[in-house]
Amino acid sequence: MPQASGATSWVGTANEPGNGFPLHWLPYCAFTAATKDVPTDGSGGEPEPQIQAHLGVGIGSFILDLHGLQQSGLLGDLPEEVQAACCAPRLNALMGCGPAAWAGLRARLMDLLRRVEPSLRRDTGRQRMVASLMVPRRQAKFQKPVYTENYTDFYASMHHATHVGRLFRPDRPLPPNYPWLPIGYHGRASSLVVSGTPVRRPYGQYKAAAEGAPVFGASGRLDYELEVAAYVGVGNPLGTRVSIEEASLRLFGLSLLNDWSARDIQSWEYHPLGPFLGKSFATSVSPWVVPMEALAPYRTRLKGRCASDPVPLAYLAEPEGARSGFDLTLEAYLSTARMREQGLAPVRLSRSNLRDLYWSFAQMLTHHTSNGCNLKIGDILASGTVSGGELGAQGCLLEITQGGEMPVSLPSGERRRFLEDGDEVSLHGYAEGEGLARVCLGECRGRILAAG
Ligand code: MN
Repeated sequence: MPQASGATSWVGTANEPGNGFPLHWLPYCAFTAATKDVPTDGSGGEPEPQIQAHLGVGIGSFILDLHGLQQSGLLGDLPEEVQAACCAPRLNALMGCGPAAWAGLRARLMDLLRRVEPSLRRDTGRQRMVASLMVPRRQAKFQKPVYTENYTDFYASMHHATHVGRLFRPDRPLPPNYPWLPIGYHGRASSLVVSGTPVRRPYGQYKAAAEGAPVFGASGRLDYELEVAAYVGVGNPLGTRVSIEEASLRLFGLSLLNDWSARDIQSWEYHPLGPFLGKSFATSVSPWVVPMEALAPYRTRLKGRCASDPVPLAYLAEPEGARSGFDLTLEAYLSTARMREQGLAPVRLSRSNLRDLYWSFAQMLTHHTSNGCNLKIGDILASGTVSGGELGAQGCLLEITQGGEMPVSLPSGERRRFLEDGDEVSLHGYAEGEGLARVCLGECRGRILAAG
C-alpha cells in the first residue's frame, strides 16, 4: 500500500470524503480551460477553438496544470524527457518514458500536493505557485487524454457472455473457447470520442427474424456497454510476445469506456467475422486515466473464475494468488429528455464490479501479443461489458431487457427497451478501500442524437 494513502493534501476539497479525487489517486487528463463553466446539459457547449490541450492531474475539485508546473520550474530535477512529456497535449509521451518515470512524476506530484506540518514547511512560496496553476474541474473542457492507434475490445465478463449467449443459444450459452482464451475483436480507434461528445444514432442494415430480406435504416436497438479500458503504456515490437509476468507492468492506467452498440446491425452482420458497423460509429472514453500505481490498494483476486473451470494454458496462467483484478464498482445511469424536463434525477440501470471479470487485463495483453502482434503506446484494451450475476448487475440494455422483451420502467412513466433520441447514458466508477478516502473514475457520458 502506498505510504501516502493516509496522507492529506493542502488542497482542502481533496480531503472531503465524497470528493473522489484525494491525494493518493491523482488521475491524469488533457484539458483546456474554459472562460466560463461548461454547461451540464450534455450539449458540450460552444465548439471549442483550436487550443492545444494541457495535461493535468485531478486533485480535489481542481486540475493541476502539468504544463504550467514544468514552465514554473517545479519539475526541474526530473529527467528532461519527463519534463517535455508534461508539456505534450496527450499522455503518450509520458507513457513512452516508462514505468520508472511514471513513478517518479507521481511521487513529485504527491510531494507538491501533500499537506506538511507548518513547522516542517520548507517553502510556502512553492505552495502558492502550485495553487496558481490550478483550474476548477468544472471549468475544464476535456479532450481525449491519449492518442490511441488501436482499440481492442474483449469479452472478459463470463456473466455478460452467459446472459447474452443465452438469448441466442439457450442450450449452450457460452462458446466452447470461452474458458480457454480471452475473446476479443478489433475495434475502431478513429471513432473514439471523449465523454460529453454527442453520439449520433447510426444507420445500418438489419433484418427482423420474421422477414426474408434486410432493410437499411436508422438503428432501432441502440445500446450502451459498461466497460473499463486499460491503456497500454509500454508497447512491444512486431514478432515479440509479452509474458504474463511482464504484462501488468506494461499497463499505464484504467479509464471508463462506453462501447455503444447497435444490436440490430450487430446481430445481422456478425456472422462469421464478429462486430463491425454495429460498434464502430462511436466509443466514448472518460477524460480521466487512473495510473496503475494509484489502483494498487484496490487490487484483488479475480472473482469470475471458479475452481471447477479449466486451468488456463501455461502462457495465460497467473501466479498463485495473483491480485490481477480491481475492486471497482461500476455504474450506468440513464436520463431521458422527458426526465430532464420534469427535473427527475438520472436512474441507475447497472451496478457491477470489475473484480468479477473472468480474464484479467494482464491475460488480455499476453494473449493479444501471443502471436507476435505489436501493441503500441496508447492502445486500448477494453474489458467488454462488465456484468455480475445478481439482479441489477447487467452492464447493457440487451441483458437488462432480455433482448428487448422486458422493458425498463422509468420514473417519468416512460419505458425503454433500447435507447431513444435524447437519452443520455452516464458511466461512473468508484472504490472504497479500507481506511482510504473514496476515489472515483470520473464520468463517461454521451447523449443520443437523432439519425442524420
Ligand atoms: Mn463491448
